[in-house]
Amino acid sequence: MTYLDGPTASAGSFSEDFPANTQNRNSEDDKLSLLLNELEKKLTRMEEVLSQIDTAGYGKCEECGADIGTEILRSDPLASRCGLHRGSAS
Ligand SMILES: [Zn+2]
Repeated sequence: MTYLDGPTASAGSFSEDFPANTQNRNSEDDKLSLLLNELEKKLTRMEEVLSQIDTAGYGKCEECGADIGTEILRSDPLASRCGLHRGSAS
């Protein structure tokens, strides 16, 4: 979620990054809807994770059921696979 930190850090140059240019309006809208799509996916995933926490399934690999491990969960709290299965399936 690093990109969520960006806007606050560069809030001072916000008007420079997004000039009032109507020609760019549509592409900016596209970027925004893409970003919203990503956030909605993350939200859906978070809701899954939250329901897993409720059922004590959080932190288990969805492939083999092993503990994902705090190291991986610390870098990616939404990880759903252990080190063995991360990246091996989509
Ligand atoms: Zn696994």
